[in-house]
Amino acid sequence: MNALTATNRNFRYAARILGLDSKLERSLLIPFREIKVECSIPKDDGSLATFVGFRIQHDNARGPMKGGIRYHPEVDPDEVNALAQLMTWKTAVAAIPYGGAKGGIGCNPRELSMSELERLTRVFTQKIHDLIGIHRDVPAPDMGTNSQTMAWILDEYSKFHGHSPAVVTGKPIDLGGSLGREAATGLGVFFATEALLAEHGKSISNMKFAIQGFGNVGSWAAKFFHEHGGKVVAVSDITGAIKNPNGIDVPALLKYKKSNKSLNDFQGGNAMDLNDLLVHECDVLVPCALDMTTTDIFIYCLNILVLERENAADVKAKFIIEAANHPTDPEADEILSKKGVVILPDIYANSGGVTVSYFEWVQNIQGFMWEEEKVNHELKRYMMSAFKDIKTMCQTHNCNLRMGAFTLGVNRVAQATLLRGWE
Ligand code: GLU
Repeated sequence: MNALTATNRNFRYAARILGLDSKLERSLLIPFREIKVECSIPKDDGSLATFVGFRIQHDNARGPMKGGIRYHPEVDPDEVNALAQLMTWKTAVAAIPYGGAKGGIGCNPRELSMSELERLTRVFTQKIHDLIGIHRDVPAPDMGTNSQTMAWILDEYSKFHGHSPAVVTGKPIDLGGSLGREAATGLGVFFATEALLAEHGKSISNMKFAIQGFGNVGSWAAKFFHEHGGKVVAVSDITGAIKNPNGIDVPALLKYKKSNKSLNDFQGGNAMDLNDLLVHECDVLVPCALDMTTTDIFIYCLNILVLERENAADVKAKFIIEAANHPTDPEADEILSKKGVVILPDIYANSGGVTVSYFEWVQNIQGFMWEEEKVNHELKRYMMSAFKDIKTMCQTHNCNLRMGAFTLGVNRVAQATLLRGWE
């Protein structure tokens, strides 16, 4: 099932639980605006290269639209549409004053030089600059993009509109980025996992974690789990996978990864098949996106849906934390639920990134930089509060965590839409 069909299905199910009026349901489902632009650039060798860029602005009832821009060979409008919609529910679940959007360019960033990437980003910005903005739509990094990409967008946008740091988030600190933004998604994953485990009378310490994806999200999450006594027993990324039943030395692995060598060659564990990670013996499985907020090299994950009908039945974990966007196919969702696996849904589990994006935007508007301690403290507060609200929805509607999060998000957007009226 493609990402859009799956996302629409979850939305419709939530709308039914909430008893939403069918006309309102239709209006919430259809994106506010879909932008598709041609981006032609001269390559370094002088030849012409043409790419297609998208920005899908899904909803702005609760505030400016917000979401990442991804550079990936398989970016297509349906997928971007699904991800934009997920951003609308995600910002509502997090209770931050934004709507949802997502963008992307169909390109392979690994095959482009830095100067080609810069030209491509600038052309894309020229094409969409009058449709984004501080109070309109605020992009951020996603798969295949990073703080440098945001710096180029900021620079190009500012040529048209004057210096506007708040037009993008996930910027370099020197250009108004927030302390703590780099670790935010991973730290949010940690807080979310802590809240879920506490609910089940468990704690991070001594739980066994398997982490798929050791990019910006997975590596930070692994670090926080390790620091709090969790045992990271398996890790994978695009270069390979390793396991160690006694727990991987995460700080050593983080150091090793800086050398850009394959995970398989790390001495502190045994190499394993990449596909086995998802079905590895563990308590908590954490599928992570590889958004390239910090690294210079562009590694990216081709599989967006990682848990499917084919592998769901073999999952050993009791808890799945969706640190990636949309890592579970609805069929897998059903199989896992029947097995009693508890899934913490993406629109909550990975909302730490966009929440600290919101803090970055607030700091830019305030013209005042927060200390990292304050950023992390506020992030914890938002994550805990969203978890409580999701649980209340689960109890009210007798549903699982995914529907608890969807009903919470959809209801907040529906209420905002109704309050604003149609005129
Ligand atoms: N790309 C991240 C996400 O999918 C962050 C978006 C943002 O910060 O606006 O949530």
